[in-house]
Amino acid sequence: MVVLGAGVMGAWTAHWLRRHGLDVTIVDQYSPASSLATSGDETRVTRSAHGADEVYPRWQRTSQAQWRLLEEEAHASLLVPTGVLWFAHREDGFEAESLATLTRLGIPAQRLETDEMDRHWPQIAGDGITWALYEPEAGVLMSRRAMLALVDRFLRDGGRLERARVVSPDGTDGAGGRLARLTTQGGSELRADAFVLAAGPWLAGLLPSVLDGQLSVTRQELVYFATPPGDDRFDGGSVPTWADYDAAYYGLPSIEGRGFKVAPDWPGPIVEPDRLERRLSDERVAAARRLLSARFPALADQPVSEGRVCQYESTPDTHFIIDRHPEWDNVWVVGGGSGHGFKHGPVIGEYVAAQVLGDLPMIERIDPGDGRFRLGPREAKLGLRTSGLAPSD
Ligand SMILES: Cc1cc2nc3c(=O)[nH]c(=O)nc-3n(C[C@H](O)[C@H](O)[C@H](O)COP(=O)(O)OP(=O)(O)OC[C@H]3O[C@@H](n4cnc5c(N)ncnc54)[C@H](O)[C@@H]3O)c2cc1C
Repeated sequence: MVVLGAGVMGAWTAHWLRRHGLDVTIVDQYSPASSLATSGDETRVTRSAHGADEVYPRWQRTSQAQWRLLEEEAHASLLVPTGVLWFAHREDGFEAESLATLTRLGIPAQRLETDEMDRHWPQIAGDGITWALYEPEAGVLMSRRAMLALVDRFLRDGGRLERARVVSPDGTDGAGGRLARLTTQGGSELRADAFVLAAGPWLAGLLPSVLDGQLSVTRQELVYFATPPGDDRFDGGSVPTWADYDAAYYGLPSIEGRGFKVAPDWPGPIVEPDRLERRLSDERVAAARRLLSARFPALADQPVSEGRVCQYESTPDTHFIIDRHPEWDNVWVVGGGSGHGFKHGPVIGEYVAAQVLGDLPMIERIDPGDGRFRLGPREAKLGLRTSGLAPSD
């Protein structure tokens, strides 16, 4: 069994397949959690809220338990329970839908009025906010560290990891409805009974005819601001992770001293992940600073302490791609994280593994039942940007 991609989707798939006793090799062109991979940043948010949708909240809760288990096994801090606070600008938007859904599912979530928010977190300016949705059990995954722990566990379980760049498979690599091999840039062959292609932002380049127009890879910037000296009001534990759906921003408190993270969340230009120059733009830094002035005024003049430039690989409707290859029965195509895939890695991997193993009860237990992950043309979701957050401009 060959899994292409040591990102969150490939590595969790490889984990589950190995735990089911398969002989599994992960092949990646870079080392796991590299700065170029979409899973490579220090931190990722894990939250249940997803409007009226019930599938992603359930997946998030199941996945969170798996991240906890990995944390225990790795003896490392992988999940920081900061809570997640959503700023609502109206009574009938994403936050209200999410609160109704989470309440129905029994997932802890509460409505906070602005005076309560002010009492809990006076460092947040509430101007323009009508109320807030608070998810007390949501938080932050230490994504880079978690990826290293995950791959390490996979290797200790007897899995293998190889470094190679795989080239696009073509008709000469497969026949009779099955793929026989992947070929590396150096000309070596990787033969297996089955293949999972979880190539993140490289997926469309790997399978151009299968994914034509279905994935857009855009430049995204994350700006970290230094917190003021002697001031712990912006650390995890003092202030929650936050999101402003209507304004298309979200951010994280400073964790382990890395700085207060602000993410202007509208899609940047289309990019190639191997060629992307990863330096912050003045424009996004200025946008992040404008957000701080309005919402976290004590940080407005703080210096940028570091930045991350990453890429979204987004489908038109922001649902992931998890499907069998249209020509080769023994190949699964997995990706399209669309800015919200990291947290769901454990369930995505289990779902892919169930399909590879042909485990129907497991497939049925996880399957959303609406075909949302199928390959093929999809309708763009109006008003929704890549991470599920709406644009401010
Ligand atoms: C700025 C930003 C913020 C985000 N915030 C969140 C968040 O808060 N919460 C959340 O849940 N999600 C978030 N996401 C989304 C999440 O990070 C992604 O959905 C997820 O990491 C994608 O994982 P992946 O395994 O599909 O891809 P990747 O992590 O990119 O892994 C793909 C791997 O495949 C390898 N590969 C590709 N092509 C080849 C080849 N030809 N040969 C060999 N190897 C190859 C690559 O080297 C790479 O290691 C965010 C994404 C970004 C960019």
